[in-house]
Amino acid sequence: MSNVAEKGHLPRIAVVGGGFSGASAAIQLLHRSPVPLAVTIIEPRAELGYGSAYSSDDPDHRLNGNLSVHLADPQDPDAFSRWCAREQIATRDPEAVAADGSMFVRRREFGRFIAESVQALSRRAPVPITHLRDRAIDLIGEEALTVVTQRGTQVPTDLLVVATGNSMPRLPAAFAPTLTGHPAVIAAPYDLARIRAISKEARVLVVGTGLTALDVISTMVRAGHGGTITAVSRRGLRPRPHRPVDAEPSKTTLLERIDGPIAPFVLGAGTPPTARKLLRALRRRILEVEATGGRWFVPFDELRDPLWQTWSSLDVQEKRRILRHLRPWYDVHRFRAPPQNDAFVREAEAQGRLQFRVARLCSVDVGASGDAIEVELIDRYASVPRRLTFDAVVNCIGLDFAQGMAANPFLAAMKRRGLLAIDPTGIGIFVDDRCRPIGAEGRPHQRIRLIGPPTCGAFGDPLGAIFIAAQIQRSVPGMLALLGPRRPLD
Ligand SMILES: Cc1cc2nc3c(=O)[nH]c(=O)nc-3n(C[C@H](O)[C@H](O)[C@H](O)COP(=O)(O)OP(=O)(O)OC[C@H]3O[C@@H](n4cnc5c(N)ncnc54)[C@H](O)[C@@H]3O)c2cc1C
Repeated sequence: MSNVAEKGHLPRIAVVGGGFSGASAAIQLLHRSPVPLAVTIIEPRAELGYGSAYSSDDPDHRLNGNLSVHLADPQDPDAFSRWCAREQIATRDPEAVAADGSMFVRRREFGRFIAESVQALSRRAPVPITHLRDRAIDLIGEEALTVVTQRGTQVPTDLLVVATGNSMPRLPAAFAPTLTGHPAVIAAPYDLARIRAISKEARVLVVGTGLTALDVISTMVRAGHGGTITAVSRRGLRPRPHRPVDAEPSKTTLLERIDGPIAPFVLGAGTPPTARKLLRALRRRILEVEATGGRWFVPFDELRDPLWQTWSSLDVQEKRRILRHLRPWYDVHRFRAPPQNDAFVREAEAQGRLQFRVARLCSVDVGASGDAIEVELIDRYASVPRRLTFDAVVNCIGLDFAQGMAANPFLAAMKRRGLLAIDPTGIGIFVDDRCRPIGAEGRPHQRIRLIGPPTCGAFGDPLGAIFIAAQIQRSVPGMLALLGPRRPLD
């Protein structure tokens, strides 16, 4: 891959973040551009495409959907299936094939597919993609933008794509501040080395019961953890397992549904809907579907697929109400457990190695010995708190974009310069319907696009690979128009 300076006067695109979103943006822009582009991806990891989502080398960390919802470019939705067949994934990893024949591939394999897709495209492109292995820390200029990296490289650009991805979980308020950095508290559950280093006899508390918690539990159980594992969450909701593949929409259908019409039951809740009416309409639709032998998944999918359209029409207060009342239920139906992982965790539960507990954490603090962690929690329907002692605590909740923004030097610098603000819902970065960040002055920046998970405040659920790829597909024409010769800024 080439050097930044060699690229002359071609339209220049800088992508900050080379995980799935940054890689898919580069792929789609290069595929659709009628002219050669000089694309630079700034990403500290050794390879592009893996990001934080697809880097795990744990064999039990699988994609949370089958092949049909994992793609790099919506214009070639079968590429990943072809790649899996070519790589003989089903032979090399027979466990990937679920009972109904659908495949739940290891996450790292999907990362490899994206990495190879970028490399292949870079080789074919008139100008190879530059992977600048560094971290972006600042952005200077107003109209003419320049990204500054940690090692001091300056990357001038005509278009900046910010794809900094998932933020790190934040310790919940019940944790004593002194626990930050404590050796028995793992605040970032993707730190596999620390999860694997937990003593086999340790009494472990996993805070949260979502997909991340299931990953962490799988890692410990597979490693032969002999101590007790307690997973706690307030509502006791767990990701639902996938339904059989023949009940899943086909790939093309799902892509069509993302950009297709809003479901009649959602429209029936008003335009725009209120949280209260939407909740009622969803309940009615669930009853209707169940009465005809269908499952809960159907209405949740009908809501999810074109959610970006519904969500962007909602008033901020209504969005907040939905996040408060509907989101926990939405999440467990939307983020489904790979069947292998679900079965593995249930087996550990049946063997008594793992216990799920519905409780509210009151306090988490260092015990008198200084090593163990004392936890006070109130079980559901109980009125008196209970004290429990653990040797290790793994935090699997609290993805926090506000904190993520402060912790990421590039986003912090953009905020300082008035180019970024937290979305009014509090769950992402404020962008308009074209993914342009709205800064301190309330105006969108013409030459910057934000994509992927940080845009959840504006689009509701731009979190799964297929939804991000579809979001990028919608944004690409606007990005390319901006780079065209003598196009005035709108
Ligand atoms: C653990 C996990 C598992 C998931 N599993 C699935 C799944 O199975 N299927 C699915 O559809 N979705 C899954 N998701 C959802 C996931 O958000 C998307 O699929 C997608 O991977 C998001 O990609 P991203 O590039 O936006 O973010 P990330 O994967 O978080 O990557 C962001 C990248 O940006 C880089 N970066 C950040 N700041 C800077 C900076 N200042 N300078 C340079 N680089 C920077 C980081 O190093 C990182 O590589 C998962 C998410 C997580 C966290």
